[in-house]
Amino acid sequence: MQCVKIMFKLIHKEKNSKARLGKLNTPCGEIDTPCFMPVGTQGTVKTLSPNELEEAGVQVLLSNAYHLFLRPGMEVIKKTGGLHKFISWGKPILTDSGGYQIFSLALLRKVSDKGVEFQSHIDGMKHLLSPEDIIDIQCLLGSDIMMPLDECVHYPCSKDQARVAMERTIGWARRSKVALSQIQKSKSQNSQLLFGIVQGATYEDLRKECAKEIIDIDFAGYAIGGVSVGEPKNLSNDIVGFTAKTLPQDKPRYAMGVGLPEDIVEAVGLGIDMFDCVVPTRYGRNGTAFTSEGKLTVRNSPYTDDLGPLDKKCQCYTCKNFSRAYLRHLFNSEEILGLRLVSLHNINFYLGLMRDIREAIKNDRYTEFRKDFLKSYNNPYEQVKA
Ligand SMILES: [Zn+2]
Repeated sequence: MQCVKIMFKLIHKEKNSKARLGKLNTPCGEIDTPCFMPVGTQGTVKTLSPNELEEAGVQVLLSNAYHLFLRPGMEVIKKTGGLHKFISWGKPILTDSGGYQIFSLALLRKVSDKGVEFQSHIDGMKHLLSPEDIIDIQCLLGSDIMMPLDECVHYPCSKDQARVAMERTIGWARRSKVALSQIQKSKSQNSQLLFGIVQGATYEDLRKECAKEIIDIDFAGYAIGGVSVGEPKNLSNDIVGFTAKTLPQDKPRYAMGVGLPEDIVEAVGLGIDMFDCVVPTRYGRNGTAFTSEGKLTVRNSPYTDDLGPLDKKCQCYTCKNFSRAYLRHLFNSEEILGLRLVSLHNINFYLGLMRDIREAIKNDRYTEFRKDFLKSYNNPYEQVKA
């Protein structure tokens, strides 16, 4: 039996909450947790260069096996020597299987125990991807952390439907682990990590059952899938909370697709270590900045002649060099620099937030940190300025 190396070190458990400080070792380097992974679905964090991400302190990027498999396809990535080289990013990469995207984007999908049959949302070509194929693809990409194929359900979802998807997810997880072990045995290396995903929709008993089965298979880390799929916020917090309680202490825990700054702050307090979300760059391209005092829409008229930075507490390139008035002007003139500058600030804001979170955990003051952050963040500029 292949033994899983110690990849995760739990450094400190905060005294008054369930927040944890840790270090995750991957083939391309260490990741301090809790961490935020900017999303580069197509092998790029939209509008930002790897250099800018590195300067912001990004330690791990998220990309998507399904998207890269469809376009540009595996041949060119293989020829380049893997995804890291293809996108010129030397630090860790986590790839999502794309299960969620297959279920939300692909046309005419047919799910069976074999895998998922679907038509590409790009060119209509038919594909069948099995859990084994998804592992193969991620091995070729050279992902530091890979995710198995899982079946996601939408919200709301009946318990029967949730159970079928959950049972299929468990079966696929088992097959994914076997597939990876075989590939690693043949290459005599076992450095790429595979996480297990806990599904079960909004049903606590299904989540518990799924967690138990997935933990029995034994993965390098555990993800909570099927949250942030349209359910109310308090419900996603509940799911994250009761699922996190069932997960082992000595492995990293990842809340997939979470979230907004306030969601991350809550989930860290419930014992989550890893996050990803498209919002910093998606909102950035729409001209919405995340700041220490809440969200700010740069197009709004109060900023016409506001010469202050987006966030006075931020030291990023955007905040050090440009005013809200200029950023508003860029958005109103539809200049691409505006999209880049606000995206850059937002990524810096998220990475700064994660550093503050880790510092607060280290000093056993997470409860105060959470309270102060939410107090200041729920007092958005928009209201103050109006
Ligand atoms: Zn900034």
